[in-house]
Amino acid sequence: MLRIGLTGGMGAGKSTVARALGDLGAVIIDSDLIAREVVAPGTEGLAALVEAFGADILAADGSLDRPALAAKAFGDDAARAKLNSITHPLVGKRTAKLIADVPSDSIVVQDIPLLVENGLAPLMNLVLIVDVDVETRIRRLVEFRGVVEADARARISAQATDEQRRAVADVLLDNSGAPGEVETEVRTLWARRLLPFERNLRTGTPARRTDVRILPPNPDWPAQAQRLIARLWVACGATASRIDHIGSTSVPGLVAKDVIDLQITVADLAAADSLRDALGAAGFPVRPECTQDNPKPTPQDPAGADTALWTKRFHQNADPGRLADVHVRAAGSPGQQYALLLRDWLRADAAARADYVAVKREGAAKAAGLTGAEAAAAYLAVKEPWFDAAYPRALAWWGR
Ligand code: ADP
Repeated sequence: MLRIGLTGGMGAGKSTVARALGDLGAVIIDSDLIAREVVAPGTEGLAALVEAFGADILAADGSLDRPALAAKAFGDDAARAKLNSITHPLVGKRTAKLIADVPSDSIVVQDIPLLVENGLAPLMNLVLIVDVDVETRIRRLVEFRGVVEADARARISAQATDEQRRAVADVLLDNSGAPGEVETEVRTLWARRLLPFERNLRTGTPARRTDVRILPPNPDWPAQAQRLIARLWVACGATASRIDHIGSTSVPGLVAKDVIDLQITVADLAAADSLRDALGAAGFPVRPECTQDNPKPTPQDPAGADTALWTKRFHQNADPGRLADVHVRAAGSPGQQYALLLRDWLRADAAARADYVAVKREGAAKAAGLTGAEAAAAYLAVKEPWFDAAYPRALAWWGR
């Protein structure tokens, strides 16, 4: 099941986007609706609220009088924490139940107004943010939903900022255009990214890598890596000791293939194997045939003959919109250390970066016109010898 988080500031058009995704076949889970259901008359949720806040939070018909509750809970941190401690677990339980009941090949879209505020982004395979500037949102809320302007401003200022939301967005859907435009964007996203992502996830297939193309440095790569790392932490828990952005996209200013390299450090390969299914479910299926880095000469193994030192596990992202390679390596193994050392050396040494760029360009030229494994092999034939020679240089930089 592909699990998508949908959010946006109040009035951005979440409901509009959710409806469009529902029309395309997504299963929509509306967290506002659930939040109302768990405190409906006759529920344990409503009983717990009355016990905590008093019977005067009830309307004459026995239902929850929301303004009365709001008057007691908002502006008072302790009361608000109490309220959340009652409702959040109930909403979580009901959401989990709904998700457990959907068919396994579903694309589930969780419409969650407070996704960012509640730190839920890392639990999703993908986060969609509906983005519209504040003034337009306020205008639409006043005009189409009859909200009083001052209320709209007050509620919006209590929410996450646009910057905070953008920071967790895997996809930013711009809904500042005419009605209907965002639906077109949603249809394209569905066909090009969500459907293939779901299929890849279900079948344990990494997104397809086609050619070897070296792109100019993208200043957004580190933020993209951090979003993936947050997801990987959820999947790994305490089994990982660290998760790092490595490789060319982690070196500011370096040209690179548009593939984010990440490294999960674990105690040993048994620990790496124990993560296999959790990583797959998080959107990073294993490549079972890739178990080995190219051995390099090291001070301990000058001939570079001990291949066992360089075993690893390897996963790739199933999302065709954000390719990523995830190397799972044992703490202290030469491959694990080299990944970090090489990154730090390249970050620090401009001449080393220039050298590496020249090698990348040469490799890409050799791979030009080829695809798939052939392109990768042609590229690596140029890159790997340079890497072997770079190891002692990086070690020298490190002072070993
Ligand atoms: P949210 O669910 O994010 O609070 P809504 O989907 O209810 O936001 O959208 C807010 C209001 O703006 C609704 O009345 C909606 O019909 C309207 N709306 C949505 N998209 C557009 C658009 N592109 N142009 C004009 N109005 C829009």
